[in-house]
Amino acid sequence: MTARVLDGNQIRDQIQAELVNQIAELKSAGVTPGLAAVLVGDNPASHIYVRNKVKTCESLGLYSEKVELPADTSEEELLRLVHDLNRRDEIDGILVQLPLPPQIDSKRIMMALDPAKDVDGLHPVNIGNLVSGRPGPVPCTPAGIIEILKRSDVPIKGARAVVIGRSDIVGKPVAILLLHNHATVTICHSRTRDLPKVASEGDILVAAMGKPAFVTGDFIKPGATVIDVGTNRLSTPEEVKQVYRDPTERLKKLAEKGSVLVGDVQPEDVREKAGAFTPVPGGVGPLTIIMLMVNTVEAAKARRGAGVHQAATNK
Ligand code: NAP
Repeated sequence: MTARVLDGNQIRDQIQAELVNQIAELKSAGVTPGLAAVLVGDNPASHIYVRNKVKTCESLGLYSEKVELPADTSEEELLRLVHDLNRRDEIDGILVQLPLPPQIDSKRIMMALDPAKDVDGLHPVNIGNLVSGRPGPVPCTPAGIIEILKRSDVPIKGARAVVIGRSDIVGKPVAILLLHNHATVTICHSRTRDLPKVASEGDILVAAMGKPAFVTGDFIKPGATVIDVGTNRLSTPEEVKQVYRDPTERLKKLAEKGSVLVGDVQPEDVREKAGAFTPVPGGVGPLTIIMLMVNTVEAAKARRGAGVHQAATNK
């Protein structure tokens, strides 16, 4: 039996439809939620991420502003910009695209954000809120993973969940969210002993490592739900052949597009062994941007007064 595909695009569309109604209500109350996206340097992937975020804002009728700074921007200059955005009323959310150039301490920048505008949920105050179960913005990819599980009726309560990866952006926050949803959670990392055995205890397995197709069939409990967060690009035929048992289609794609996207999970094994899984592309990825939009709309509701908040939530 092949596994159920958890279609991230479809779930993104559901959330987007709900958001459109909330935005219309906010606009009728005179509020247009606004997002400022700050990009420092010329990292090509960051340019694509920010462009897609701004495009999504535009398509939803949110106000957006892209601020591009050169790679040699100093920490002080970036701090000044953040303080300025903190003060501007029409900006509800500030997104500083990571990674930042080496001369800038990203933790110091996150600390400088107004926690009420921190739509990536990375300010220590918001991390504290997340850990202690208080309301506040939740990092977008982990929030999207929980939406996928819930909207696909995957039981979380009482499940054994295994998260591979302990980054501040994905691994740790998704583990906390699974815990709040009453899963029994194990967090694995590069020093975990006997990783396949630990992983294969998971009814839910989240792979967030950044290692192409590392999670093979022996990591997967038969029937488990596998969430693949990894986004890795393969750019040579040798790399493609290493990942796929039957590489024909992907080699064609490589020749057409110059690269092939693969997750952290071996895509053929997961189809055969899991009960359900998120594909790459088209799984977790689409949720990340829409959850940023959700956080921006929530920030606008929270910042711009109880009347507006009620208008938008009393549905
Ligand atoms: P990261 O900061 O590099 O963290 C990777 C984690 O994986 C670390 O905790 C590391 O362990 C662990 N790890 C690495 N190799 C391992 C191994 N051989 N065995 C066990 N654990 C291992 O990465 P990230 O920012 O969390 O991102 C992870 C992946 O998700 C990347 O491919 C990234 O591109 C992707 N991503 C996708 C989205 C999306 O929207 N789809 C969003 C964010 C990230 P240590 O801590 O011990 O080093």
